[in-house]
Amino acid sequence: MNTTRKLHVLIVGAGFAGLEVARGLSKAPVRITLIDKHNHHLFQPLLYQVAIAGLLPSQIAHPVRTIFRKQKNLAFQMGEVTSIDLEKKFVKLNGSAIAYDYLVLAAGARTNFFGFEALEQYGLQLKDIETAVRTRNHLLSMFEQASHEAEVEKRRALLTFVIVGGGPTGVETAGALGELMTHVMRKDYPRIDFSEARVMLLEAGPSLLAAYPPELREATLRLLKDKHVDVCLNTKMQGYDGQRVVLGDGSTLATQTLIWTAGAKAAVVVDALEVEKAGLGRVRVEPTLNLMRFPETFVIGDAAYVADSNGQPLPMLSTVAIQQGQTTAKNILRWMAGKPLLTFEYKDPGLLATVGRNAAVARIFGISFSGFIAWVIWVFLHIYRIIGFRNRLLVMFNWAWDYFFYDNQVRLITKE
Ligand SMILES: Cc1cc2nc3c(=O)[nH]c(=O)nc-3n(C[C@H](O)[C@H](O)[C@H](O)COP(=O)(O)OP(=O)(O)OC[C@H]3O[C@@H](n4cnc5c(N)ncnc54)[C@H](O)[C@@H]3O)c2cc1C
Repeated sequence: MNTTRKLHVLIVGAGFAGLEVARGLSKAPVRITLIDKHNHHLFQPLLYQVAIAGLLPSQIAHPVRTIFRKQKNLAFQMGEVTSIDLEKKFVKLNGSAIAYDYLVLAAGARTNFFGFEALEQYGLQLKDIETAVRTRNHLLSMFEQASHEAEVEKRRALLTFVIVGGGPTGVETAGALGELMTHVMRKDYPRIDFSEARVMLLEAGPSLLAAYPPELREATLRLLKDKHVDVCLNTKMQGYDGQRVVLGDGSTLATQTLIWTAGAKAAVVVDALEVEKAGLGRVRVEPTLNLMRFPETFVIGDAAYVADSNGQPLPMLSTVAIQQGQTTAKNILRWMAGKPLLTFEYKDPGLLATVGRNAAVARIFGISFSGFIAWVIWVFLHIYRIIGFRNRLLVMFNWAWDYFFYDNQVRLITKE
């Protein structure tokens, strides 16, 4: 009988980072417990497609148990980790304690409202399936209400869609919403006068997609204009009460819809950890992605703060999370083999954001380009990265249908 105890690797979070660690340890002689408060892995880059009625939630999410069906050294447990004792090496889950030898904290991020508390109540966000479906229901309801609203001012407020935040999510959502209105809703609501409708993208800074090179920022502005999006740069949102947005210059904007895409901060479970933190509540980790005081604890993905060679924080991106997950799996294996740990180095695969049908901006191998070719790359890359052959086929079919028939098939208002 083999009485050797297998080391226990506990991974919190089945997002991009957590999944990669679990996969990287698939052949390791360890016992892995993967915990997530959801039973699915979510492909967040396509959440906005759920919000604009382009895809079903099930097409961008995959049950974790299905993903790891064949991995014998892994057990999945659904539940929310409420606290972590780094000294005694256990986490609290659903009221019980789970001990570990190695901890990988890959709990991601949550929406950052930067103290605008009313936004949590009145604003819409895109973070998980629930918030994306709520956004879809809300957007579609606005058209329903506007179609039988007699008062012009009220109608305009119902048909004014404000998106705050000129990063990739804001840009993608604004472009897609502009298109939904121009190509689809016009056909569904022939009685609405669409000259009363507006999609507005507010950005506090002087440009959209601040991390992108100037030529792509310019191209994004141009492409959004083609999609009938009003882009307001240097425009701060100061408040929102569900009816009116107050802008930095004191002016107001009547709208029933505000989608907040302007910020993220580390997940709630990270808040209580008594370790060194950087901006946005992210945990400052060693270059080997673990903690100096608790070296058996790795923190990766959106929840971790790692600087690049220029001292700039790595962005909250799936590509960063995936690469950190890969390095962490290797480092756990190296630790077990008594080898020195690897230093994490991010290999930037480039930048890519879509602005809607036939329109995207990209920087790959140092070359910037925009328009149709960038969009084709975006489409294929996203289909390739979605988990599950069935989902890939369904998304491909959906997009082809929408492309040829100018249709967004999931125009369903459902109960939440
Ligand atoms: C709308 C949107 C669009 C985006 N678009 C892009 C894009 O185009 N390209 C790109 O590269 N990146 C994009 N990102 C960012 C990307 O999704 C994140 O950088 C990436 O998901 C981070 O991976 P992660 O593993 O750190 O966290 P996540 O993928 O967020 O996974 C964290 C997991 O931890 C779980 N969890 C959290 N707390 C607990 C707890 N206490 N107990 C148990 N489980 C817990 C969560 O349920 C979640 O499953 C986008 C993000 C959003 C929200």
